Amino acid sequence: MKNVPTILWLEEIRKEDIISVGGKGASLGEMASIGLPVPRAFVVTAQAFRRFLVETNLEEKIFSSFENLDVEDNEALERAADHAKLLVMTAKMPAVMSDEIKKAYKKMSADNLIVAVRSSATAEDLPDASFAGQQETYLNIKGEVNLLDSIQKCWASLYGARAIYYRAKQGFDDHTVNIAVVIQQLVHSEKAGVMFTSHPITGEPNTIIEGSWGLGEAVVSGSVSPDKYVFDQRTEKVIDTFIANKKIEIIADGDHGTKLVDVSPARQDLQVLSDAEVAKLGMYGKIAENHYGIPQDVEWGIVKGTIYILQSRPITTIGAKKENKSVSGPKGEAKIILKGQGAAPGIASGKVVVIRDVKDVGSVREGDILVTKMTNPDMVPAMRKVAAIITDEGGMTCHAAIVSRELGTPAIVGTKNATNVLRNGQLITVDGEMGLIYEGLLPQAAAPVQGAAPQRLVAQASQIITATSVKVNVSIPEAAARAAATGADGVGLLRIEHLILGLNKTPGWYIANNREDEFVKELHDGIKIVLDAFPGKTVWVRTLDAPTDEFRNMQGGESEPHEHNPMLGWRGIRRDLQSPDQYRMQVEAFKRLWKEGYENLGIMFPMVSHPDQFLGAKEMMRACGVDVEKVDLGIMIEIPSSAIMIEEFCKCGIKFASFGTNDLVQYTLAIDRNNENVADMYQPQHPAVLHLIHNAIQVCRAYNIECSICGQAGSDPKMATWLVEHGITSISANIDAIAKIREAVARTEKRIILEAARSKDAE
Ligand code: PEP
Ligand code: MG
Repeated sequence: MKNVPTILWLEEIRKEDIISVGGKGASLGEMASIGLPVPRAFVVTAQAFRRFLVETNLEEKIFSSFENLDVEDNEALERAADHAKLLVMTAKMPAVMSDEIKKAYKKMSADNLIVAVRSSATAEDLPDASFAGQQETYLNIKGEVNLLDSIQKCWASLYGARAIYYRAKQGFDDHTVNIAVVIQQLVHSEKAGVMFTSHPITGEPNTIIEGSWGLGEAVVSGSVSPDKYVFDQRTEKVIDTFIANKKIEIIADGDHGTKLVDVSPARQDLQVLSDAEVAKLGMYGKIAENHYGIPQDVEWGIVKGTIYILQSRPITTIGAKKENKSVSGPKGEAKIILKGQGAAPGIASGKVVVIRDVKDVGSVREGDILVTKMTNPDMVPAMRKVAAIITDEGGMTCHAAIVSRELGTPAIVGTKNATNVLRNGQLITVDGEMGLIYEGLLPQAAAPVQGAAPQRLVAQASQIITATSVKVNVSIPEAAARAAATGADGVGLLRIEHLILGLNKTPGWYIANNREDEFVKELHDGIKIVLDAFPGKTVWVRTLDAPTDEFRNMQGGESEPHEHNPMLGWRGIRRDLQSPDQYRMQVEAFKRLWKEGYENLGIMFPMVSHPDQFLGAKEMMRACGVDVEKVDLGIMIEIPSSAIMIEEFCKCGIKFASFGTNDLVQYTLAIDRNNENVADMYQPQHPAVLHLIHNAIQVCRAYNIECSICGQAGSDPKMATWLVEHGITSISANIDAIAKIREAVARTEKRIILEAARSKDAE
């Protein structure tokens, strides 16, 4: 190993130094080398770490404990990991080394600069051996003692159980794996945001900048609606400025962590960036794009008038769109071992854990790939932890598909036999877009590509105004912030059954045990989270629609009837009308929200087959003390009878109607939506389905009633195009589909206008 110093300053680092400074260090060095204003930083090199191991005589001790280690034996693995970490943490760093680090730290700033300490693993045969979630980062570190301690903690993290496991499985020799540590000035931005150096959808040379007050996290996480600026790189002018009402900001919380605070009313509507700042950011964007040769997604921050570029990475959506579809998946000679329906986009690798019985779900670990027959609400906590989900059964609208999309976790459903073909502990890579499962850990998937995240940024940046509203579907309140970050025009469907199923007690149980208030509170609180994420935008909450079989595993589920065909059974509005107590509890929650001023709350009734059911539900609501003429009540069109009788519904006072194509298709074509054996016959664009939809849209238009769609078909750009051509008022899509639906809608609307103008000219 050549004699690399303990410390390398950012300015000294070049791409070739990746082996010494890791991927993070090299990328920061490269940004600095092309003149981008990167916050000051130095790297404690990988070689310094190795010298530390040698000089403290740890090498032999650590590696001998790894010899003959069976990484499949969890206990032994954890023991070896803990032992190695303890050795690293308790060893005294050689004085020459700590002195050098202290000197460098002092050189950054005389008075204890607050820094971020990030680790980045490297190996001789894979210089950037960083695997997502395995390296530690410590923020807000101040003072020499804390700095040295954090560096040692980063070093120790190289021997975390998960990291050892992955390296063993990838065939890395632990002797050759090192770790570099980046120490960088922490920028406590007064204003910050993101920038797309070119338009993320069209690729035009328009730089789109979003910014808000405080740290960039608020913009990146979508918790605030940021200002938006468009800078034309051709004319070098700001061509569009949109000032948003910025209600909250995220700021540093003392020396530790961050906190979310309200923006004072006086600053809420102030413009965040001056034209000069926009132009300067645009210039940095251009430098980055020219250097990397591909449009970049850049994070920036400003402190006391100084701009900092914090991160730059390629926008994959532009290149990917133009190329062959298979580029979204892992490339190379990878072997496909199984196929299914791609239900939630993204690529991830991990270790298979097959769950045959829900009571075994506790064995699922962070980063595993959950393989099961079909997920159910009891599995949601495990679904949150895993890198990907694979099921034997189900189609695009099954529980696994809906929840995975909202969690942003790649998923493949309907593989028929994943639980037999895949083995516990097997390492695989999942492409949730294409529905393909590959053998082994493919390098492209080392950092899981969460399907929805890039889409969110794309959508945020594009904010195309469309006459047809583009709304979003939500099923679990925790997805509300991600849903709002798409910039959707409202929520076209909030399914409350996922919220209720998560309580693990049936509504009947709450009634039987006199705990109705608890149920009402849970429901109220869950819906409120979504309403709060969409201030001023309509949120249509659907009353309970859970088939009896989904209630069975819950407490109280033993009294659920055994139905021959739950899909056609006691669910939706039919059940509520016959279970006044269950319905009343829901109305009570809605009433509280209306009383609290949530005028944006509308209620949608599911599985309605006759106008009498709508009128019945409305009357029962009135009897509960709701001024039913003042609130928005509408229906789902999921049963052919409601599509056929839509005029009668309009006459009896519905305020809106929304196609639930997931059910409408299955009831029109007699195809079970959850049955993978007939999945290829499940056709949302079947002429009979389109016929029903077309007629219902025309009637709603005649009665001036908002007509929408919230079934999965609304997330298909082709269907969205057809719907806009046929006059739909709004489309509600999945979080991951909003950007492409917005684009399809905008394109179609423009084409319609253009065609109208041309035919007028021709007259
Ligand atoms: C539908 O039927 O299209 C729908 C949106 O409802 P769910 O998927 O919950 O049945
Ligand atoms: Mg339905």
